[in-house]
Amino acid sequence: MSLYEQFPVTLTNSLTKKKEQFEPVVAGHVGIYVCGPTVYSDVHLGNVRTFQSFDVIVRYFKYLGYKVRYVRNITDVGHLVGDVDDGEDKIAKRARLEALEPMEIVQKYTNGFHDVMRLFNIQPPSIEPTATGHIVEQIEFIKKIIDNGYAYEKDGSVYFDVRKYNESNNYGELSGRNVDEMLSNTRELAGQDQKEDPLDFALWKKAEGGHLMHWPSPWSEGFPGWHLECSAMSTKYLGQIFDIHGGGMDLKFPHHEAEIAQNKGCCQKGGANYWMHGNMLTVNGRKMAKSEGNGFTPEELLTGNHKLLERGYSAMTVRFFMLMSHYASTLDFSNAALQAAEKGYKRLMASFALLDKLPEAGTTTINEVRSNELKSLINDAFLNLSDDFNTAKALASLFEVGSRINTFYQDPDQLAEMDKEAWDYVMTHFKGIITEVLGLRQEAEASGSNSALEGAMSVLIELRKHAKFSKNYELSDKIRDDLKAAGIQIKDEKGGEMSYTID
Ligand SMILES: [Zn+2]
Repeated sequence: MSLYEQFPVTLTNSLTKKKEQFEPVVAGHVGIYVCGPTVYSDVHLGNVRTFQSFDVIVRYFKYLGYKVRYVRNITDVGHLVGDVDDGEDKIAKRARLEALEPMEIVQKYTNGFHDVMRLFNIQPPSIEPTATGHIVEQIEFIKKIIDNGYAYEKDGSVYFDVRKYNESNNYGELSGRNVDEMLSNTRELAGQDQKEDPLDFALWKKAEGGHLMHWPSPWSEGFPGWHLECSAMSTKYLGQIFDIHGGGMDLKFPHHEAEIAQNKGCCQKGGANYWMHGNMLTVNGRKMAKSEGNGFTPEELLTGNHKLLERGYSAMTVRFFMLMSHYASTLDFSNAALQAAEKGYKRLMASFALLDKLPEAGTTTINEVRSNELKSLINDAFLNLSDDFNTAKALASLFEVGSRINTFYQDPDQLAEMDKEAWDYVMTHFKGIITEVLGLRQEAEASGSNSALEGAMSVLIELRKHAKFSKNYELSDKIRDDLKAAGIQIKDEKGGEMSYTID
């Protein structure tokens, strides 16, 4: 029985607003698309949270044994300032400000984005397509939408006809917006620009006023609308129907609503079966955003060089901090929360480091009850992860396992009573969930500060064993040296009794 059959995944589907059992389109496979960054500036921590949330989701599907195709795009054209249909392209604007080619801006911030992803141990997707690399596919997509009667051309630009689409579909099915109301509210604004209705959105824009980025098309020399790339690229790499589409909460409307409309307008199918949305990172209750002046760059976070930071925090501390909440809840950023996360992270990794130092299990009479208890702690971690990827609850189970590991380290007799198979299962998945699913790794600083204490503890355990099994023991030179290195002074070693002090 595979892990995914043993621990079937349920997830909250933003489309139905319900928690549902995950049923993939193709058994044993997961196709997932996540909206990637618009590469016109440095990534801030709020963006990192979204990508980390989906990183853990993808990692968990893989760990359960699914074959995953993960597509996360790079938006390098078409995203206009203010997320609207008119105005300057974000990348072109930045290129003008920095006096660079638009593609130099794209490369610079794509590289920076990848550096940040690596820093937080966020794995790369299987495919990372760019909007500019898929102009042909986007043009073909628009042609089909026009053929189906859901888009119209006006002066070289093409717009999606929301009113027409809404006659036979439900524009608003994802965001829960009442489009009839929106349509009647916007009626008097109609005809003020090229669009027939203000709710309509651009599929193709004619390049005007020195627009730097443009391509030939049947309608004009121009560029694709922002929403279009995700429809065209998800269809190309995952098919007209695929499993999961993810992104930040702020993309639900209009971006994702428009994507569904484009997909149905083109292919009569809405793309993903499950829509998932990660929640925001807030600072003192306000959304973390560059425009609010409260968006840390990862560098500021590591160095502590920001007015809201008391000091710097490591990348793994921050990763752990984000794991301590459910992806769909808001997470409030504070120095106190980060310091608590740092303690938690170090505590968990200290137990992790002890695993390789433990002796064998199952060397005496087996205590079945306690062996099964231990095994069920790891199963709880699986059940919590399979329950809408609840990393916060899974961590609680892992801490329970961690405290057992600490006990076994101090008292190996208790480990000797554990069933060997159960213990192997617990060790394998304790390590696996921490490193492969949660993506945590030892940081040099954390292991360095603990190593002296760990050394001293292992010597003490040696001594205790020694004292237990032999009445007339003699300390070997090796043990003497180890003790000295660990700062332990033996005061009296005669007659099977001893005392010691630790420096
Ligand atoms: Zn998108």
